[in-house]
Amino acid sequence: MSYPEINLARWLEDTAARHPDRAATVYFGARLSYAQLRQHVRALAGALASLGVGRGDRVAIILPNVPQAVIAYYAVLWLGGVVVMTNPLYTPRELLHQLRDADLRVVVALDLLLPRLAQVASDAGIRHVIVTSVADFLPAPLRLLYPLRQAAQARRERRRRGGAHSSGPPPAVRLPEGVTRHDFRSLLHHPPADGPAPVRAREDVALLQYTGGTTGTSKGVVLTHFNLAANCTQIEAWLYKLRGQPTTVLAALPFFHVYGLTTVLNFAVMSGATMVLMPRFEAREAVKLLQRYRPQLFPGVPTMYVAINALPDVERYRLDSLEACISGAAPLPVTVQETFERLTGGRLIEGYGLTEASPVTHSNPIWGRRKAGSIGLPWPDTEARVVDPASGEPLPPGEVGELAVRGPQVMKGYWRRPEETAAVLKDGWLLTGDLARMDEDGYFYIVDRKKDLIIAGGFNIYPREVEDVLYEHPAVKEAAVVGVEDPYRGETVRAYVVLKEGQTATPDQLEAFCRERLAAYKVPRQYVFIDELPKTLVGKVLRRALRESAGSEAQAS
Ligand code: AMP
Repeated sequence: MSYPEINLARWLEDTAARHPDRAATVYFGARLSYAQLRQHVRALAGALASLGVGRGDRVAIILPNVPQAVIAYYAVLWLGGVVVMTNPLYTPRELLHQLRDADLRVVVALDLLLPRLAQVASDAGIRHVIVTSVADFLPAPLRLLYPLRQAAQARRERRRRGGAHSSGPPPAVRLPEGVTRHDFRSLLHHPPADGPAPVRAREDVALLQYTGGTTGTSKGVVLTHFNLAANCTQIEAWLYKLRGQPTTVLAALPFFHVYGLTTVLNFAVMSGATMVLMPRFEAREAVKLLQRYRPQLFPGVPTMYVAINALPDVERYRLDSLEACISGAAPLPVTVQETFERLTGGRLIEGYGLTEASPVTHSNPIWGRRKAGSIGLPWPDTEARVVDPASGEPLPPGEVGELAVRGPQVMKGYWRRPEETAAVLKDGWLLTGDLARMDEDGYFYIVDRKKDLIIAGGFNIYPREVEDVLYEHPAVKEAAVVGVEDPYRGETVRAYVVLKEGQTATPDQLEAFCRERLAAYKVPRQYVFIDELPKTLVGKVLRRALRESAGSEAQAS
């Protein structure tokens, strides 16, 4: 296939020319057309240019899925700048690491984040903070009510913390000296910038996307305009039946993760689709939006589909507009897939990817043959193979090794980390850090994360295999398995278990259940019952947090 070598913002220009009146975003009922989006983008780009942002300059966007995130993203690209999508839930420590590492001066952020930003702005070298509120693009009646709602919420919060019963808005935040605050809405009146700026699509960076938060210090993945355009074009090929149709996408995945950025934001603007924005995923809200706006597409993560399936009155909603849902980021249990498809009549297929690959590399065909438990086939022009982790040599079908991928969506490297780049990128092949196998038909299966492999008494144990068994137990709602230090076996298997409401199970019962289904060395020796598993926003279990809590217990005892 051929991939466009353009500034990604060119897609906005083209779509606005073809479909000026079509809604680009719907946000609590307020529509922003493609023509309006383009106009705002050009104005904000003009304002950013006057603050010194030009080609190659990084700008952080720290927003949930609100229209301003879309405007800011394209405004930075319009100038040939580099977007640094940042999670608005970060603590000051995480913000400081990322902003300093990205080496930037301008930030677009939510007003609610100002207390955290004020703490780190000077140390991070920030000069300009463009501030916006989630209310800025609400329809008029909701916008007027917003300050009242916010004050009521602040009062409730203070009361909950046992503070004073005073009312009124939270105290105004002062940014440190040398940091200028700008109002997002006012900047939309700035004289517009010409553009989009020409770029060398294969070289010029569009996005610095930080990753590794669940495993270690986060590093910036460098993705070019070409990488991102390629992944979008690949999606379009996979969704061939919908090509040329006006579509609506449920924007439930956050744009500050590259999964949402590519499969929702870039894809929608490329194809002229309407995004129904969800600033925060909530299952009840999602089914209401599905019923009201009737999207055909809903890319998501397994926890979203699980939550929708679990709504007690879900059958009351009409969800039959959905045609294609791709689930990625974590394994999709087959029962979840079946229930969701029964409810919606649409297709829910499992895919796979990682930030380093923009992110999608595999998925099951939407309308073709799919296999349960498999991540499917490599996407067009994507090569994939399973290699021996020690020698790097390709392994035959059926054998488990490290998954390596090569294709137009694979990153240029890690930002300013040549050694870490060299460790994972060899001759264009990206080592994913995931253990996988391929079957005779070329379908791939993720076995586990390389890092999560447990080695007990010399045996390899894949946590996912043990977790799958625990999930089969009727009392178990969720389970995660980690290796903990053991004086004899090096490591031993510990299971963290969340029980279903009203159900009971003892460690002995769970152990007996596992013994019937697993070789003895794989059976967890320790069981810890907890109320909830720690998870990232996209639903990945934070095994590191579990391992660390196990480690600190060991030190304490
Ligand atoms: P991230 O870079 O945050 O997108 O995380 C990428 C990682 O998510 C991959 O390396 C996998 O470990 C995991 N992942 C993504 N999709 C799947 C899937 N379908 N099944 C299992 N793990 C997945």
